Amino acid sequence: MERELLASIQDLSVTYHTRIGPVSAVDHISFDIYKGEILGLVGESGCGKSTLGKALLRMIDPPGEISSGHIIFDKEDVMQYDDDRMRDFRGRRASMIFQDPMTSLNPMQRVDDHLIEAIQVHEPKTSEKDALKRSSIMINRLGIGLNRLGSYPHQLSGGMRQRVMTGIGLVLNAELIIADEATTSLDVIVEAKLADQLREIRNEYGVSLLMITHNIALVAEMADRIAVMYAGHIVEIGDVYEVFEKPLHPYTQGLLGSVPSIQLNDRNELFKMPGEPPNLTHPPAGCRFHPRCQHAMPICSQLEPALIKQSSGQSVHCWLYQDHPDKNEKR
Ligand code: SF4
Repeated sequence: MERELLASIQDLSVTYHTRIGPVSAVDHISFDIYKGEILGLVGESGCGKSTLGKALLRMIDPPGEISSGHIIFDKEDVMQYDDDRMRDFRGRRASMIFQDPMTSLNPMQRVDDHLIEAIQVHEPKTSEKDALKRSSIMINRLGIGLNRLGSYPHQLSGGMRQRVMTGIGLVLNAELIIADEATTSLDVIVEAKLADQLREIRNEYGVSLLMITHNIALVAEMADRIAVMYAGHIVEIGDVYEVFEKPLHPYTQGLLGSVPSIQLNDRNELFKMPGEPPNLTHPPAGCRFHPRCQHAMPICSQLEPALIKQSSGQSVHCWLYQDHPDKNEKR
């Protein structure tokens, strides 16, 4: 079935200007987000996945900046929006849920105040009565009792606060929700419940979900596609079944090999990735993974590969799958 494009991220880079030099946290990344899909974005801490999520809403604060690229959303370049259009875009068209919603919710405002304010900021002609009605429907849909509309954030559980944040995006009919480690601080039962609700919401509202997480099992369960990040690059992206069945990039293979399996007969030892992620003030030349890669070839430390679509469906950023003179030569 032909998928409908929601957003096309083209050549996006984010640079932090630090005292020890520029840090290229997101380096010339391109990928698409389709309407109604759940895209899981995974990778080690510090690989740039949260920075990428914030960059999509242009929420990079100094000393960081979006140093190149385009964010094409419904055929318009969000990078060209002025402050007013950007404010409208954030919330009405795309919104973000963070790991700790206490940092996003106002402790002095009740749940209904948050939702009503969100609606009226973006739709000033909506009356308070109508905004409250919509808020009540959404809160009920998210499985929070209506008696909680008058609660303050500190009176809610962590899972409820996450659902309120989700509701703020959905009540405005946002088309893209970026969930940045949204389930990380929750216990496993609440996490599973929130994950189920997010999936139901996707099915019901057709919203696209970019799920940024280090929880590979959650991505396997929930996502339609997976994007794997390493040191500021997307190194592999594709259908979640294809990537889990046959990961192509050596980093993806290592990442998946390091996740415990619950299969009873599986006595294989977990893979331990050699080395450390690179310092992004001085990233390695060529492929940034080459100092840790068991398959590295001479070209890997000289030239950066491109992210190229393979016949199996996934796109991979690795010389093993691209023609070059020393393809069969070992380092
Ligand atoms: Fe390994 Fe080379 Fe592929 Fe990088 S490009 S992952 S070093 S084989």
